[in-house]
Amino acid sequence: MDILYICKTLEELYPDAKCSLDYKEDWQLIIAARLSAQCTDERVNKITPALFEHYRTLDDFANADIADLEQYIYSCGFYHTKAKDIKALCKCLYDLGYIPDTIEELIKLPGIGRKTANLIMGDIHHQPSIVTDTHFIRITNRLGLTNTTIPAKVESDLRKLIPPELSTDFCHRIVYFGRNICKAKNPHCPCPFFGICRL
Ligand code: SF4
Repeated sequence: MDILYICKTLEELYPDAKCSLDYKEDWQLIIAARLSAQCTDERVNKITPALFEHYRTLDDFANADIADLEQYIYSCGFYHTKAKDIKALCKCLYDLGYIPDTIEELIKLPGIGRKTANLIMGDIHHQPSIVTDTHFIRITNRLGLTNTTIPAKVESDLRKLIPPELSTDFCHRIVYFGRNICKAKNPHCPCPFFGICRL
């Protein structure tokens, strides 16, 4: 297994890969990421334009009426918990006055786990990040880059393998690859990684 070959091949396949959640302000990405749990990014992108039009600032979210907020995010699922988390999260961010720039601080925010913390580190703070979403875990196992489906262990394994400066783009490209080629069911084999694939 040659990690640089994998990185280069993914770059050739998806040179412009980026975060698939739509946002304009950095703090909006955190809300979109919270909404994306147990939901598709596509679904989140459908509801966030109206959501961010109605709630325009962190202060608006921090003071939101929960029932009103729930109506905007209803179709993303788990809307009771997500609404509570988003309100609490925005209050924390508003009080802090900045977006924390360490994983340790980020995971203290309501509803934010390591996956979202890594997304924020990569896309907002431009620091090396490993976002262990469902595509990432499936594909890194198929490519023999890890032997576990436990997200924190996958993150740890991949941090040792991927050059830090390539890691954020690598994660975005893996998502594209997982959606278009190496799907959970009926992957489009063979792909350029056929020779090293364990499936
Ligand atoms: S050969 Fe198939 S399963 Fe293996 S990495 Fe390529 S698309 Fe995925």
